[in-house]
Amino acid sequence: MSGISMNLVTLLYLIASVCFIQALKGLSSPATARAGNAFGMTGMAIAFVTTVALIFKLQAMAAAAAAAGHGSAGGFTLVALGVVVGGGIGAVLAKKVEMTKMPELVAAMHSLIGLAAVCIAVAAVSEPQAFGIAQAGEALPFGNRIELFIGTFVGAITFSGSVIAFGKLSGKYKFRLFQGAPVNFAGQHLLNLLLALAMVGLGLVFCFDSGATPAWLPFLIMTAIAFVLGVLIIIPIGGADMPVVVSMLNSYSGWAAAGIGFSLNNAMLIIAGSLVGSSGAILSYIMCKAMNRSFFNVILGGFGGAPAEAGSGAAKEQRPVKSGSADDASFIMANAESVIIVPGYGLAVARAQHALKELVEKLTHKGVNVKYAIHPVAGRMPGHMNVLLAEAEVPYDQVFEMEDINGEFGQTDVVLILGANDVVNPAAKDPSSPIAGMPILEAYKAKSIIVNKRSMASGYAGLDNELFYQANTMMVFGDAKKVIEDMVKAVE
Ligand code: NDP
Repeated sequence: MSGISMNLVTLLYLIASVCFIQALKGLSSPATARAGNAFGMTGMAIAFVTTVALIFKLQAMAAAAAAAGHGSAGGFTLVALGVVVGGGIGAVLAKKVEMTKMPELVAAMHSLIGLAAVCIAVAAVSEPQAFGIAQAGEALPFGNRIELFIGTFVGAITFSGSVIAFGKLSGKYKFRLFQGAPVNFAGQHLLNLLLALAMVGLGLVFCFDSGATPAWLPFLIMTAIAFVLGVLIIIPIGGADMPVVVSMLNSYSGWAAAGIGFSLNNAMLIIAGSLVGSSGAILSYIMCKAMNRSFFNVILGGFGGAPAEAGSGAAKEQRPVKSGSADDASFIMANAESVIIVPGYGLAVARAQHALKELVEKLTHKGVNVKYAIHPVAGRMPGHMNVLLAEAEVPYDQVFEMEDINGEFGQTDVVLILGANDVVNPAAKDPSSPIAGMPILEAYKAKSIIVNKRSMASGYAGLDNELFYQANTMMVFGDAKKVIEDMVKAVE
């Protein structure tokens, strides 16, 4: 046998796996995130080069077998084409995508992982000999049938669920299922339950059929039901609960990849898939805790109900608010002893993080004690605000997580809210609100509140925000970048 030895493949896959674990460890803190990323890229490079070398080897073996009349060569060109086309599209997308569009890109990527799992499973059921699972004309072993059943339904649910999540997150499409507002109908839970039971039942029929010809009909109906279930599971989830969906689909895509790993007998895919699957599940749990949701309620219950305009950003009833200029706001902040800054999605849209850092430096220079308060679901992806502030090289010791800073709002002179809305909405304290129970940054307790946004439009959850009408709140309308730049000039 020529080419890379299987022992070397195993060793290199092991090294790549260690790199992935180090990557996850590094990414758990902003201070070590860059090193984590470097580990991740190194691990992926090792895994990719090893897999290509392995394909070369298998190709050479197939060619030798074809020459001896035992099989067919070909396929490497297709693999190379896939790498060039897929890698090319991925590189262009990654270069072009704006930070605020990341969640929908991630959802789209998850959908492709799910679809890949389904395609590989169908191919493996159809031609098990090509995967080394069984000889032509032989029945698939029971263990493989179970793997293929699980890989297929997890992949199918991941695919269709991610497509719906993509539509909801992008907010660009008129299609009802792609709207931020939850889609509920009578008997929804019962229907989901019946479909899930039918899917498992048909999967078991496929698994227990030991005939030489696979039980295609139950397998295909089971797959179709899984595609439908993916849609039904995600449509009742409302705007404010999308962070949980993003991390949950992340987890599903990992398990789907691990499933493919079993079908392909590839240890790297099994390990990497399991790492993504378990870290995604932990992240979903953290997100649920951050939003005070039960994981099963989010998955099964269609939490996050929102008014009709959910996610549309439409303005609500006209009520008087106090508004002021950037100069007024600067005057108040420069004369305060303490200021807490609450960044939100609007700050990311305006790309105002560098201007903000400058403003904070000016205020600190004047002797004001300034801190940043980060809500775990601020922005549109987990850790969005940390990434944004890290990009502007804001010192980590000025940045505080919600649980560490919430106790300080009551003693703070000024809270400056920049493009944040849902994460400071006191409606979360109202049991009848769609965001009831979600912990918020308690900005409403501060002595003075300054809010910058462009209008009175709602945030992602589509809710009005009582904080904007408080007697001690001053609205400063305008694009965050322009407003902050004006504040910098005024403080000077
Ligand atoms: P919100 O989406 O609640 O509010 C953002 C506000 O920013 C809007 O009200 C908007 O008002 C304002 N804004 C938009 N553009 C600008 C701009 N250029 N300059 C100034 N202001 C601007 O953001 P939050 O960060 O408070 O909350 C995040 C929400 O997103 C939560 O509901 C969360 O559940 C959800 N979500 C979070 C995800 C995550 O993983 N973090 C994933 C998916 C959803 P106006 O139009 O008037 O300017």
